[in-house]
This record gives sequence, structure tokens and C-alpha cells, in this order.
Amino acid sequence: MGYETELKLFIDGAWRQGEGDMSPVINPASGDTIAELHLASTANIDEALAAAGRAWPAWRALDVEKRGAILHKAASLLRERAESIGRLLTQEQGKPLAEAIGEVTGAAGMFDYFAEEAKRSGGRVLVRPTGQRSIVIPQPVGPTATFTPWNFPIYLLAKKVAAALAAGCTVISKPPEETPGCTGALARALDDAGIPKGVFQLVHGVPDAVSRQLIGSPIIRKISFTGSTAVGKHLMKLAADGMKRITMELGGHAPVLVFDDCDLDKTLDMLVPQKFRNAGQVCVSPTRFFVQEGIYDAFAKGFAERTRGITVGNGLDADTRMGPLANGRRLPAITELVDDAKAKGARVLAGGEPGKGGFFFQPTVLADVPDDAQAMNVEPFGPVALMRPFASEDEALQQANRLPYGLAAFVFTENGRRANRIGDAIESGMVGINTFAISVADAPFGGIKESGFGSEGGAEGLASYQVTKAIHQA
Ligand code: NAD
Repeated sequence: MGYETELKLFIDGAWRQGEGDMSPVINPASGDTIAELHLASTANIDEALAAAGRAWPAWRALDVEKRGAILHKAASLLRERAESIGRLLTQEQGKPLAEAIGEVTGAAGMFDYFAEEAKRSGGRVLVRPTGQRSIVIPQPVGPTATFTPWNFPIYLLAKKVAAALAAGCTVISKPPEETPGCTGALARALDDAGIPKGVFQLVHGVPDAVSRQLIGSPIIRKISFTGSTAVGKHLMKLAADGMKRITMELGGHAPVLVFDDCDLDKTLDMLVPQKFRNAGQVCVSPTRFFVQEGIYDAFAKGFAERTRGITVGNGLDADTRMGPLANGRRLPAITELVDDAKAKGARVLAGGEPGKGGFFFQPTVLADVPDDAQAMNVEPFGPVALMRPFASEDEALQQANRLPYGLAAFVFTENGRRANRIGDAIESGMVGINTFAISVADAPFGGIKESGFGSEGGAEGLASYQVTKAIHQA
């Protein structure tokens, strides 16, 4: 099956051709242009803004059960269509088909979860001795603009949209231009599930222009962004002018602390596939491996052997375990980081070079990487594992906390007291101890320091689309 889909905008309940510039859609496995996307014009975005404002009063007033029923229906349509949507995703983004299908079903899970979580959202009543009551209630914040990236284009979109819609907000989403087919399929599922017109809208466009227009509009009350720290800071500044609420899910540089009491084979069997999942283009990807000195050589050897066994190729081929980088920008970026680390003394244990055709880069393992290598400081966002030994727990912690990032961190140890100590002391929004399963619908996901602001997922994720009102009644 080839790349077969209509690329349109979804504005005020209608599927429309964008009236702005054209943008190519490129298959990263070949570098070939597979479609042309018509972007939204300024007038298209204005229409979407007006529709989001018009649709809000009725959507916020709709019974939470009825809102939930539409979200559940969208979830079941996504599951039914997971294979065909997954094929679009693989052709647009490169990841192996099994990962793409898993992403679609994960997105469906977000709609199911938030459909129910909204029913659990309540307020509280304070009763005074005078008989006066103070009633504290959550209310939907209002029309929301979301901006999402190309690494998990459906899942990250669903995470924001499901929570915002469940909370009673209307949503205008600007997904990444690289992957319009699969995000369009999410909009199609919501349309087919009966979402009222104007409640959910999808617009593609030049990121800077669209974000300025949406964030600058008085109709929009909340901004949710996932992407790089640099863009996040820029959008925060734009949001400040209108005192708009924000959720910022930004970059990370996850440390992995591996202690000599871990089960080494089991740890490596878990770590290597996680490192190269989605070609390392994951904000919580394990990246800086700090390994206790007694097991460092065995760890590095085992890691490199497993890495060399990874089959790299087109994500539609059944035996592919890692696809290409998602776009042409990433290839020079990764090459520069790897070359810089080599020049500063890092040892290449596996890979280290671009691949052939498309935007491929070999799964790469670099040992003894010094602190001043760029890759140890800038989020690599690619298939590169960086490792070095440590002598003491304090040194490992100091390394883990050295960077301004604070998204995810991982610890591998069988010592429960140590796990508790490090879990408390590490500076990150999420910690995985002997696990990577940290991105789940019912727990908060988010970073501290320069990795972001606010949480997605769980009750916290729903609350991020609500404001609090206190009503005092005598
Ligand atoms: P980028 O920083 O230009 O863009 C990152 C994302 O933000 C993209 O989806 C892009 O469309 C969007 N964006 C850019 N400028 C925007 C603006 N003014 N308004 C609204 N959206 C805007 O870089 P890139 O080349 O796409 O990605 C490179 C870096 O981005 C990576 O190295 C990584 O650090 C980061 N990134 C992070 C995530 C994540 O999940 N946190 C996802 C993708 C990219």
C-alpha cells in the first residue's frame, strides 16, 4: 500500500484545502517527496479562531458523559484504523511499522482515559460556622492552541487534545508539517465520532506565523507546546503578553545511572532497544549512561554488541528495528555532535557514521565521552548512546544533575535504599527505577528546570486545561 490520503485542514467542521504556501511531505527512508501540503493562510487561521470561540459555550455546557462518549468513539475508530494510520506515519516519519501502530493505539488510550478522568473531576465545599459556604470549582480554561512535534505526531497530539476536549475546551491544533497524513487521520476519527463543528480544528502552517497569530488572538486562553527548549522559551514570551496559561513539554537529556548490583544482562536487554526506539528521537530517551566503574567495560561491550545487531532500514520492512531520522535537519545535526565527540577523545564502539540513502544514521555507541563534548550538553535527539564510568554515588548524582535539563532520569540497581535516595535527589520531573515505562495515560508526564512547565497525563493533565473559581455564598 502506497501513501494514499487527502491532506486537508479541518476548520469549522469542514475539510478544506489550505490557501497558503505549499510544503513538501518527504519520506525520510528515501528522501523522496511523497505529497504536497497546502498550508493555512492568515484568513484560514482567523476562520478557525472565530469558530473555536463560537463553539466553546455549547461544548463546555455539554454533559461530561456526552463529551466522553465522543472521545470513546474516536478512540475505537483509531484502534480500528491503527494499521492504515500506522502506515502513513511510517512513510512520513520513518519509524518501524510496529512502533507506528503502537503509537496509534497509545493515542486511542489517551482519548479513553481522559473521557473517564473528566468524570472524576470535582470541586470542594467549605462550610463556615455562620452557614456560609465557599464552593471551589474547576472550569474549562477556554479555547486552546496546541503545537506538537514530529517524533510522536499522533500520540503527543492526542495527549493534549483528549485532555483539553474532555475538560470542556475547544482546540485548534497545529501539528508538524512533516506528518500531515497521520495527524489528519486523528482529526478524521474525531469528525467521524461526531465532534461538533469548531470544537476541534486542525491547521497546518509556517510554525512561527501560525503560533504568533494563534497566541496573539484574544480568543485563545491556553497554549500547550511540545518541542525544543529554545522554541518553548519563545512561545512563553509570546504567551506572556496575553497572560495566557501554558504547558511546556520541552527537551531532555536523560541520565541513566547503572550500579554494579544491577542484573547486567537484563538491564542491557532493556536499555539498548529503548535507546534506539524511534531512532533516539524521544524527549525521554536514555542518553547519558553513567556506569559504576567495576562493570563499565562489560556494560560497554554488551551495549555495543547488542547495538551492532540492530537491523536498520525502511520502517515498512518487517525486520527493521530502527528507521531513518525523521527529517533532513537531523542528519547534519547528529553528524556534527558525533564528530565533535570523536575529536574530543570519545571512543566509537558501534556506528558513528550516516547510513546510506534517505536520512539514515547508524545506531551509535560512544564511550569515555568527556563533559565538554557538545553531545554531553546539547540534547542529541538521535541514535547516539554516550557513556562514561563513575566511582561513587555522589559523583553519579552530580553528573546526572549537571545540565539545565530535568525531564526524565533512570536508575538501575537492586538496592532499594539507594533507589529511594536517588529517586529523591535527582533533578527531573520523572524517574524510572529499573524501568522505562514512564509515559502512561494516568500519571503526570513533564519536566522541571529548562525541560518545561506543567504536566500532561493523569489528573494533573486534565487540570492543566482548567481554571479554579471560588464562589462564596452567605
Ligand atoms: P525546532 O526547535 O525548530 O522545532 C521543534 C518543534 O517545534 C517542531 O515540531 C516545530 O514545528 C515546532 N516549532 C518550531 N518553531 C515554532 C514556532 N515558532 N511556533 C510553534 N511551533 C514551532 O527544531 P526541529 O529541527 O524540528 O527539532 C530539533 C529539536 O527539537 C530536537 O533536537 C529536540 O531537541 C527538539 N524536539 C523535542 C521534542 C520533544 O518531544 N520534546 C520533539 C521534537 C523536537
